[in-house]
Amino acid sequence: MQITAALLSGVGQPFEITTLTLDDPGPGEVRVRLATSGVCASDAHTRSGRIPSPTPSVLGHEGAGVVESVGAGVTHVRVGDHVALSWMPSCGACRHCQRGRPVLCTAAAPALLAGTMLDGSVRLHDAAGRPVHHYSFLSTFATHTVVPAASAVPIPADVPLAVASIVGCAVLTGYGAVVNQARVTPGSSVVVFGGGGVGLAAVVAARVGGAAQVIVVDPLESKRTAALGFGATHVLAPSPVVAEQVRALTGGDGADYGIDATGSQGVVAQAFDAVVAGGTVVCVGVPAPGVDPVLPGANLVRSEKTVVGSLYGSSRPGLDIPAVLDLYMGGLLPLDRMITKAFRLDEVDTAFDELRAGTLGKGVLVLDPELAGPLPVEAPADLAVPQPVLVGA
Ligand SMILES: [Zn+2]
Ligand SMILES: [Zn+2]
Repeated sequence: MQITAALLSGVGQPFEITTLTLDDPGPGEVRVRLATSGVCASDAHTRSGRIPSPTPSVLGHEGAGVVESVGAGVTHVRVGDHVALSWMPSCGACRHCQRGRPVLCTAAAPALLAGTMLDGSVRLHDAAGRPVHHYSFLSTFATHTVVPAASAVPIPADVPLAVASIVGCAVLTGYGAVVNQARVTPGSSVVVFGGGGVGLAAVVAARVGGAAQVIVVDPLESKRTAALGFGATHVLAPSPVVAEQVRALTGGDGADYGIDATGSQGVVAQAFDAVVAGGTVVCVGVPAPGVDPVLPGANLVRSEKTVVGSLYGSSRPGLDIPAVLDLYMGGLLPLDRMITKAFRLDEVDTAFDELRAGTLGKGVLVLDPELAGPLPVEAPADLAVPQPVLVGA
């Protein structure tokens, strides 16, 4: 079929809105008519070349829509089902999948890096018939996409698709770091470094998990203000004394959990310093090459602190994406408020300009206005977001 897509011809190039050919889904694949796509910093890093990925390609790795056609052997979704997309399909058969750790699945990574489907081929072609690469299996900057079956997670039809489209990346990463890896307990204290999409998702997950104190550290005042609106109890600007400030706010001993959503130099060490003896630091932000944490070795032993990584929220996307959306529909996670701006597909360059300038919160591209529904999304009627306890800022 013919689709409209934002084609990236090479690193640093503007997007070209053009017609491409999308092949039918192969065995174990699903074709989805897309409602909206999230715009994520990873897309921008890929266009700039910081994250290498083959071109020409169609970027976009956050989306939701309606199943239009299924390939042979696909049984978990049918035509007409609503789906949220996950860029981390898993094979179900390798050691990691067998152990219930699908984000560690080794089967998908080579194809993801090669910009192909799982079988090493592509479903996208340009007008001249030349192959066009996929991006993170999803290529959601387009009206339609073909994805691995495991990337199409069925969701209830009453969930707004625009909200569903932002769950499969930053939201799942931040939520899962708190719920699956840190396992935040009621009454506890959490310090989150970084107030972007991942950090905000960690904040709302911590509050839903019953954290009494959620402290957010971010250099931008706009992000600190936003964090307070999503349930942070305190916000701090980064400084050499930030760990001392966190300890002072948490009774002198430090926070129970630290989340590094930045990947920036020195932040893991600050988080380590800011958590209580026996506490846990979860590293979520991926550092640039050569940026390695340096931890006080003796203190690591004597304080029995845990430092642990978390990829894609340590999630099981097929379970966690519907769970997150259930919490949203129950009024507990204000995901609709995370969407700050909607763009048409032909405005994708503008969205990236605003992302680079730091003025865009969470943008979505509207690919099918009818499926996307009204934006901003109307929140569930019984929205009962945990109210922030403003002890100080
Ligand atoms: Zn992303
Ligand atoms: Zn696997």
